[in-house]
Amino acid sequence: MDLIHHRPPVAPRSGGPAVTDPVFLSPPDIGELEESYLLRAIRGGRFDPDGPELGAFERELAARVEVGYALGLSSGTAALHLALLAVGAGPGTVVVVPTLTFAATANAVTYTGAEPVFLDCEASTGNLDVDLLSDLLGRLADAGRRVAAVLTVDINGRCADYDRLLPLCAAAGVPVVEDAAQALGSTYRGRCAGTFGRVGIYSFSHNKIMTTTGGGMVVSDDPALIARARHLATQAREPVPHYEHRDVGYNYRLSTLLAALGRAQLTRLDTMIARRRALRERYERLFATVPGTRILGTGDPGSNCWLTSVVVDPERTGWQASRLAEHLAGHGVECRPMWKPMHRQPVYADRQAALTGAADLLFATSLSLPSGSALTDDQVERVFAGITEFLAERR
Ligand SMILES: *Cc1c(COP(=O)(O)O)cnc(C)c1O
Repeated sequence: MDLIHHRPPVAPRSGGPAVTDPVFLSPPDIGELEESYLLRAIRGGRFDPDGPELGAFERELAARVEVGYALGLSSGTAALHLALLAVGAGPGTVVVVPTLTFAATANAVTYTGAEPVFLDCEASTGNLDVDLLSDLLGRLADAGRRVAAVLTVDINGRCADYDRLLPLCAAAGVPVVEDAAQALGSTYRGRCAGTFGRVGIYSFSHNKIMTTTGGGMVVSDDPALIARARHLATQAREPVPHYEHRDVGYNYRLSTLLAALGRAQLTRLDTMIARRRALRERYERLFATVPGTRILGTGDPGSNCWLTSVVVDPERTGWQASRLAEHLAGHGVECRPMWKPMHRQPVYADRQAALTGAADLLFATSLSLPSGSALTDDQVERVFAGITEFLAERR
């Protein structure tokens, strides 16, 4: 059974005839193997989190990324929430958050009662600007603020600059929490994304590098931290039969059936990464011939290439990234700008932020291109034909 290729027709944004095979940015890559793992889990007859699937998924993922412990949760957002609680984020504390990220990163900080302080990114990678971080940590210390964590995000699967970042945070006595929601399977100097901080998280949302259709994981080498997170994830129920609670807990555990789906996906992770990398290389070759364009965060052999984003300098190209997006939409191809920076979001507009303008510029000039491993060869050809046609009209 092939679940990938049967989608209802959608109307292109520019009007015109409906496209019968729309190309999405990062569709789930789920097929027969996942079906067999799910069926086996259902037939196994254990549907509580203490059944075999969830524990096995946690051990297999921990082994894959070479970390001591993993905890399977219902989403990457839940994982961020518990990771932040585990390092002491809460009312009266500050957490440094990259402004160029998906809202879940900042929202999880807000759930804890801590205050997010936004930090701009490097123009070349979209990752947190380490020079600016050094300055910000100094200013927060001078102001007597208690910084519970620096939250790093490995944008599009490229790891942040940990060689510079980790010593800086260690010197300031601030733990690093790594949001590797986009970076499962990536490496930096041979070490796996998600394992650089005191605690890290992954997302298995439907558009991530591998998916459980909804899910996440907290990873750490600290068994006490994981035990505490596990306790909070299961309603903070004390180990006695009569339902005793000393803390306000959460219902955040990953479903055992979805853990089975995750186990199947994990066996295919390297294959899925290889397909995304091949797509990235093809985009790089194409845009290398177009002056005024570049691929964000290029030249990193460790990246899982979760998304490929092209950055367009309209002064040099004579066209805006949004024009390319409109052209591709006419071919039924989905593209999107990178995330609108958090300091621009109405909900976070009044927060403190250390800015250079780099994230604003990336938001205005970038376009994320179809990058998923489930894209068929035919869909990939349509994407490249659409881009080539757009460029030819402007030469
Ligand atoms: C996807 C994502 C999340 C949230 O993960 P969910 O599983 O959707 O809750 C958090 N941070 C980043 C950077 C993400 O890309």
